[in-house]
Parts: sequence; structure tokens; C-alpha cells
Amino acid sequence: MTDKKPNSYSYSKGDKWRGCQAESYVDAIEGLRGPRPIQVRLGTLTHAAVAAGIRAYCAGLGHEVDGPTTARAAIRESLDEDTYAEDRPGKRTAEEDAELALELTERTLRLLNLESGRFEPVIYEGRPMIERKIRLPIDDAEVMEYFDGGFVFVMDWLTRDREYGNRLALVDWKVSAHVAQDFQLDTQLGLYQHALGQIGLWPELAWQYRIRDRAAQIPGQLKKRRSDGRSLSISGPGLTTEGVFRRTCAEVGDNPDGPEYAEFLDNVRTKNTLYRVVFGGIDRSRAAALFADAVETARQMARAAKAGPSSAPRNIRSFNGSPCTRCSLYSDCMGALGTADLVKRTRERLQGKPQLIELVLEESDLP
Ligand code: SF4
Repeated sequence: MTDKKPNSYSYSKGDKWRGCQAESYVDAIEGLRGPRPIQVRLGTLTHAAVAAGIRAYCAGLGHEVDGPTTARAAIRESLDEDTYAEDRPGKRTAEEDAELALELTERTLRLLNLESGRFEPVIYEGRPMIERKIRLPIDDAEVMEYFDGGFVFVMDWLTRDREYGNRLALVDWKVSAHVAQDFQLDTQLGLYQHALGQIGLWPELAWQYRIRDRAAQIPGQLKKRRSDGRSLSISGPGLTTEGVFRRTCAEVGDNPDGPEYAEFLDNVRTKNTLYRVVFGGIDRSRAAALFADAVETARQMARAAKAGPSSAPRNIRSFNGSPCTRCSLYSDCMGALGTADLVKRTRERLQGKPQLIELVLEESDLP
């Protein structure tokens, strides 16, 4: 018999449960996970590559680090670890996502300007706090009986920030199409603050950096001149990267650093690309209350796991005349199957063939 892996509760499991218990039952309780949707690939690769850049910075200061220290290695490792759904026409391929992730990473690291010395690494158990998994036991026997791995948090980065009195700052990356300010992630960051507080690293500051998932439109006059007639955008408007731009300039014999492209390059590199949300007001008691809510959600899931699939109803929106298509189960779900049948159909459908991905990352300027 093999050792059973601990079954952990996480913020994302609870979030999914609150959205649709049927989806959560199939995924988290039955463990029937299909390949990841390709829509999340860019964010995952960018997270991995930015973390590698920060690790490299910490290694340069003499700290021991775990994990890749170059953006390319991080992207390769991430693609090897995850299985994504097949690429679909009109969506970016793995190579295109990798290229865009490299550009977003380069831009993010440039704006963070780590070399300025503003950020001081926080060392915990001998390693800087970058992409670290923290496991908290839950003080509740019923929950721990099912979630024997406790509550698991994977935080992006914990650092000291000299611009803010050398206080501890928890940083979360979000790669998204829009960078408008909102506060939706208070809950997640509040829970992470609580977890860090439990290991003696309470962060007074918690930020979300929104990394915009696209670059500026290419100048029209250059677009028309590409030799193969293809659009410069990777897969749609607004997705041109600096690498694609430079290669196209080389193809048509233009100088990419000429004055006519200066504004475009500035846009690609800096404008509207990184947004920092700073929020305050979450103190220790509020963070503890969020954790208590999370334990309650974990309890509901533990009870459903005991009671069986019929105890987990579908998202109510699917019964309101406009079928829900929010998750990959929707085609079975629209047939009005109960959760027990959804489990059965999903089990039959899943074959989980890993993808073979050939990457061309060598052209990037990043290490
Ligand atoms: S498609 Fe069905 S299972 Fe998926 S979230 Fe919607 S209601 Fe839930």
C-alpha cells in the first residue's frame, strides 16, 4: 500500500465550493481533475517566471534559494509540471504564452527595480519567502478528520519594504486583462496574513500587483509590411510583445529604436501594465474571523464528503433558464444531471493525456 497524500484545504477549494458545490465535489472531493484550461496558462507561467527573478535577486545577496532562478527555466518547469487542455484555434499556443510571460516578467521586474535595494528578503526556515507553501493545522477534529493536511497556503512573496519603514509586506501577483483597482482579494490576502501571523511573520502590508496580460498594439504602418502578411499580434488585438515587434522590424529592415517607435516601445514597457493595489484596514482580529469562516466552509465540505454527492447541489444559476457554463462540466451539467451522475460522467470522460510541448525560448533577452 502507498502512503496516502495529505488532503489539504485551501482558499481556492473553499472559493470553488462557495461558487458551485457540484463542481467542487467532482474536483476537490472526488479528485476528478481534467487538464487545466489554457486560459490560466499565461498567469501560471508569469507567476513562475517572476518568482524566479526574485529568487535570483535573493541568491545574488547570498541567500540559499529553492527553485529556478531564471525565467526560462521556471517556465519550462511549470509547463512540465502541469497538463493543459489541448490548444484551440484562436487561443495562444504554449510557445506564445511562454513568450508573452517572458515579456510580462521582464516588465514587472524592471518596474520593481529590485537592484534599488528597496526590498529586503524575509528568511524563514533558511529560505527567502518566495512561492512558499505554509501548512496550518485546523483546530477542529471534524475538519481535520477529513482535511488531514490542514489548511495550505501558497503565498507569492513576503518581503520587507524599506519605502514603508521596513515593514513586512505580503505581495500577490495577478495576471489579468484589466488592471482597475478593486478589493476582491481581501479575503484571500487576509487569510494569508492570518497564516503568516501564526508562524510569527504577521505582514502589516498586503498588496496585489496586477500585471496586465497584454502589450500595446503595434504601429499600423509596420503591421502592413510584415513579409508573411500575418498580423503582429500574437493572437488578437493588443497582444504584441516587444520580441515580436523587434523581429518584425528586423524582417522589414526598420530600426526598432528609431524615434517613430519610441512611444510604442514606451507603452509596451511601462504604461498601463502594472497596477499596485494597496489596501489597509485588515487587522489581526478581522483576519482571524476570515479564517474562522474558512474553517466553516471546510466543515461543510468534510460533511458532504461523508454524505455523498447528492448533498452537493449545483450552482443555482443553472436552474434559472440560462444554463451555467462556468466550468468544464457544463455539457453534462446542462443535461440536468445530479452531482452523482456528474461524477460518473466525468470519470468516464477523463483520460488526461499529457501534452508534449516544444518551446522556443532561446530568443528572449531574459536569462
Ligand atoms: S457548469 Fe454546472 S457544475 Fe459547472 S459551475 Fe456551472 S452549475 Fe456548477
